[in-house]
Amino acid sequence: MLILMGLNSPRTDIENVKNKVISLGCTPHEIPGASRLAIGITGPTGTLKTEDFKMMNSVDDVVRVTKNYKLVSRMMKEDDTIIDFGNTTAGGKELTIIAGPCSVESRDQIFEIADRLTSMGIKFLRAGAYKPRSSPYSFQGMKEKGIELLGEVKERYGIKIVTEVLDPYTIENIGKVADIFQLGARNMQNFSLLDAVGKTGKPVLLKRGMSATIEELLLSAEYILSHNNFNVLLCERGIRTFETATRNTLDLNAVPVIKKHSHLPIIVDPSHGIGIGDKVPAMSLAAIAAGADGLILEVHNDPKNALSDGYQSLTFDQFEKLLVKIKQLAPIVDKELNL
Ligand code: PEP
Ligand code: MN
Repeated sequence: MLILMGLNSPRTDIENVKNKVISLGCTPHEIPGASRLAIGITGPTGTLKTEDFKMMNSVDDVVRVTKNYKLVSRMMKEDDTIIDFGNTTAGGKELTIIAGPCSVESRDQIFEIADRLTSMGIKFLRAGAYKPRSSPYSFQGMKEKGIELLGEVKERYGIKIVTEVLDPYTIENIGKVADIFQLGARNMQNFSLLDAVGKTGKPVLLKRGMSATIEELLLSAEYILSHNNFNVLLCERGIRTFETATRNTLDLNAVPVIKKHSHLPIIVDPSHGIGIGDKVPAMSLAAIAAGADGLILEVHNDPKNALSDGYQSLTFDQFEKLLVKIKQLAPIVDKELNL
């Protein structure tokens, strides 16, 4: 249920509505809009009656939200969510470009990559320290040491860090350096992890599970928002289909569909989506054309010798050429690339 408050409602009226929601066993969430405040209600709302609120001071309207997901839906919040990162935003006019290696591999590797990317104006570095690998014998990431190196890189270059959390136990330590927690495809429905990152209030890049529907992705995001953490970036990274010529099938349909149903920013990961480095630029441009708010791309100083996902990683040269094309394309879809 959604309660639309009148323009410039006094604080006391807002608090009265929230207290009433709580007294009826539900949870109120303040949702600031461009012009006025709404109060989203979650919990056992089936027992609530719209009349319970309609007569209260400053209440303009009461609307039932019919979707399974509530706080992530456009019905609850009409305006796009714009996440503020200080020197940049996500979800607004500006495209968000997150780039870097699949994994932190060594001090030299991560410093060389951060150095090149910052010289290109990139503001977000992606790199996994804890890696979810299909085989237990594959490189599992540098773990705590990798997080330390990311901390050093952040300090040296002032670049924002996007790195994966695999379980609730490492969140606190990873949170000391991460500006965005990446929640990977394999963990999209790890509900205790969703709750845990939700409670931190920190931005979360939530990747779509490889067999998850768009609705399931939105319901997973709902777990995070239910802790009043609205700083969620959704990520389409390819789904599993019968096709074997590519690693996954990048579902670009998800972009306009999510834009219609949710206010959250949507980022596309063409690297995992297609899985072939020299095909990544084409799918990156297609994602921007489809209306994505940004891209997460694997870029490596030496893809042939990468410890994970080298085959799908871009060289610096390929990445730089792609940025030129993205900059040209951006205004056509009402976006900007500010590097
Ligand atoms: C990654 O970003 O390196 C990764 C493991 O992605 P996904 O969870 O989408 O497979
Ligand atoms: Mn990877």
